[in-house]
Amino acid sequence: MKEYKEKSLKGFRKKSIWPSLILFFVFLVFCIGLIVMIMSVFEEYIMDSKIAGVYEDAEDLGRLVKANKEENIMESLSFVGRNLKKENGICLTDRDNQIKIIYGKSRPDFNRREEIDLFDTYIVMPDQGAQQMEWDNMLMIPVQELWERTMDGPIRLNNDSKQMWEMWLREEIFTVNCWLEVPLNFEEYHLYYRDRVRLVRKDILYLIVVGIIAISALSLPIILLLINVLSSIVIQRRMVKLLYLDTITGGKNWTYFIHHSKKILNRVSGSKNTYAMVNLHMDKYQDFCACYGNKSGEELLEHISGFLQAKVGKGEAFARFATADFGLLLKCQSREQCEMRLRKMLAELKGIRKDKKLNYHVGIYMIDPLTHQKGDKKHYRRQVDVDQIYHYASAARQEVMGNEGQYIKVFDQQILEEQLWKRKVEDSMESALLNKEFQIYLQPKYSPVSGKLVGAEALVRWISPTDGLITPGCFIPIFEENGFITQLDDYMISGVAKLQSERKLQGKKAVPVSVNVSRAHFTREDLAEHICQLVDSYGTDHGSIELEVTESAFFGDKDMLQRIIKELKVYGFSISMDDFGAGYSSLNSLKDLPIDVLKLDMEFFRGEDVEKRGEIVVKETIQLAKNLNMKIVAEGIERKDQVEFLADQGCDMIQGFYYAKPMTVQEFDRRVERDS
Ligand code: C2E
Ligand code: MG
Ligand code: MG
Repeated sequence: MKEYKEKSLKGFRKKSIWPSLILFFVFLVFCIGLIVMIMSVFEEYIMDSKIAGVYEDAEDLGRLVKANKEENIMESLSFVGRNLKKENGICLTDRDNQIKIIYGKSRPDFNRREEIDLFDTYIVMPDQGAQQMEWDNMLMIPVQELWERTMDGPIRLNNDSKQMWEMWLREEIFTVNCWLEVPLNFEEYHLYYRDRVRLVRKDILYLIVVGIIAISALSLPIILLLINVLSSIVIQRRMVKLLYLDTITGGKNWTYFIHHSKKILNRVSGSKNTYAMVNLHMDKYQDFCACYGNKSGEELLEHISGFLQAKVGKGEAFARFATADFGLLLKCQSREQCEMRLRKMLAELKGIRKDKKLNYHVGIYMIDPLTHQKGDKKHYRRQVDVDQIYHYASAARQEVMGNEGQYIKVFDQQILEEQLWKRKVEDSMESALLNKEFQIYLQPKYSPVSGKLVGAEALVRWISPTDGLITPGCFIPIFEENGFITQLDDYMISGVAKLQSERKLQGKKAVPVSVNVSRAHFTREDLAEHICQLVDSYGTDHGSIELEVTESAFFGDKDMLQRIIKELKVYGFSISMDDFGAGYSSLNSLKDLPIDVLKLDMEFFRGEDVEKRGEIVVKETIQLAKNLNMKIVAEGIERKDQVEFLADQGCDMIQGFYYAKPMTVQEFDRRVERDS
C-alpha cells in the first residue's frame, strides 16, 4: 500500500506533464514541416510557371524556324537573331556540336546539361555568361549593334504612384539564365534558345502571403495546444503545492518531508555527511487547546513551524508530522554538535510565547555516513528508510517524556529493543491470558519470632512458550501503561480465590494470601463489588484474601480511594499498603485510611548506612504502625541479622529470600504443610 502510494505520487510529480509536452513538440515540428512544404510547393509552382513561359517562347521560336527552314534556315535564324531581346539568344550547332550560328550574350555549355523533369524534350542550362565578346567576334556578328537595335530603351520614371508601385513589384530579386533545346528535326542540327527566368518582388510577395496564410492557419491549433500545456503545468504545480501543504501551519507537510529527506539522504554527494533525524514534540498541546481554544493552538503550531523552518538550512528538511510533533532532518558534524544546536533551538522555542510556559522533548536518531568497514574498505550508507528512522527518533523522545530535567535523548539500541519487546508483549498479552500462560507464584511470609509460615503473597509469572519464564518487571509496567493490568489482576484475584477455596474444601492448612491490586483499578467506582463478585464466585472466605495497594495509588483521587477501601473492609477483606517508603511519603494516608497491614519496602534494607540510620527509621516506622493498630511486613529480607533485628523490633511478618523465593503452588503446598 505504502509502495503504491509512493509510486503514484512519483508518477504524479514527474510523468504527468510529459505526454502534453511531447505532443506539443511533435505537433510543432509537424506544423513547421507543413509550412515549409506549402511554401516550397508554391515556390516550385512559381518557378514552373516561369519556366513554362520560357518553354512557350522556345516552341514559338521552333515553329517560326520550321516555317522558314525550307527557304533558308540560316537566313530565318539570322532574322530571328537580329530581332531578339537583349536577354535572349539562339545558337545552332551541327552534329559535332560545332556552332554554326549564335546570337545573344553567351554560348551554351554543352558539358553542363541538366535535365528538368517538366520538359522532357528540352534541356535547361544555367548561363555561363562568359567570353561573350570572343564568341561574337568569332561569328563576326555585330551583336553590339543587334543589342542596340533590340534594346528596350531607357526606363522612364513618372510620378504616378501606381506605376511606381508596379515597377517596384516587377523589380528582379534573382535571375536564372538558361538555354533550352528547340525541337527542330532538321539535318541533325540542334537549335538552342536562351532566355531568362526571373523572380521578381511580386513573386516573393505571393510567397510571403502564402506563408502567412499557412502560418496563421496552423498557429491557432499550436497556440491552443501551448495554452493547454502551459495550463496543465500551472495546474500540476498547484496540485504539487497542495499535495505538500500542511493546511494547519501553511508550511510543508509530512509527504514532502519524507520525499525531500529521502532525496537528501540517498543522493551520492551527501552520503558522506552525518545527519540527525529529529522528533520534536511540544508537551501538553491538548491542555493548551483546552485552555486557550483550538484556534490559538493552531496559531501556536504555525508559529513554531515558522520558527523551525527558519532554523533549517539548505540540504536539510523540516515538516510537521502530527498534532504537535515536528520532524527535522539536520546536517551535523557530530552528535555533540547536533545536541548543542537543538538545545539552543529549544531555549529559543521556550520563549516563543512569553506569556505561556511551553515545554518540548526531543528524540534524535543519528545517521552516520559509514555503515561498516571491511579492512581498509569503507562502506557508506545507501538507502535510508526515513519513516523508520523517524520512528526511532520518536521512540527516543518517548523515553524522556515526563522527565523534567532531561529534554533530549539520542536513540540507542536498547530503546529499540524495549520498543520491540513492548510490541511483542502487547501483541501476545490477550492470547496469553486466554491460554493461561500467566501463572500464580506464591512467596511465603514468615513470623520472625516463631519462624512459622503465616501468610503469602501471590505474584504473577508469565510462562511463555517462546520466551520461558518472564518476571513481572518485564510486563507489569507495560500493562499498567496500556490498561491491561486490570484484566490480569482480576485473573489473579480469581485464581487466588479458587486456590483458597480448594484448599478449604480439601481440608488443607490455610494461610491468608495477599494479591496485588494495581492503582489503575481505583478509577472504577464499583471496584469493591467487583472484587467481591470475583471472590464469591468460588465461595471463598473474604478473610483469607488480603489486597495489596501500592503506595503510589494513594496519590490519586483520595476520596474515591478512601471510599473503596472502606467498602472492601466492610466486605471483610484486609488491606495492605505495599512498598511503603519507596516513593513519596504517604504518612498522611495512614491517618485517613483504615489500613490493616503496612509493607515496608525492601529499599529500607538496602544501602550503605542501613546499619545506623535505616535501623532508626525502621524501628520508628514499626512503632508508628503498631500505634495505629497495623500489622507490619518487611519485604526483601535476605540476611539472618536483618531477621533478628526485625524480630527484636516486633515486626509481624517477613517476606524475603532469606526464607523463600516466590514458588509454584505445588511447592507452596508442601511448604505450608512443613512450616505452618
Ligand atoms: P511487590 O508486590 O512489592 O512484590 C515483591 C517483590 O519483591 C517480588 O518481585 C518479589 O519476588 C521480590 N522480593 C521478595 N523478597 C525479595 C528478596 O529478598 N530479595 C529480592 N531481591 N527481591 C525480593 P516480583 O515477583 O518480581 O514482582 C515485582 C512487582 O510486580 C511486585 O512488587 C508487584 O508490584 C508487581 N506484581 C507482581 N505480580 C503482580 C500482580 O499479579 N498484579 C499486579 N498489579 N502487580 C504485580
Ligand atoms: Mg505486593
Ligand atoms: Mg512490595
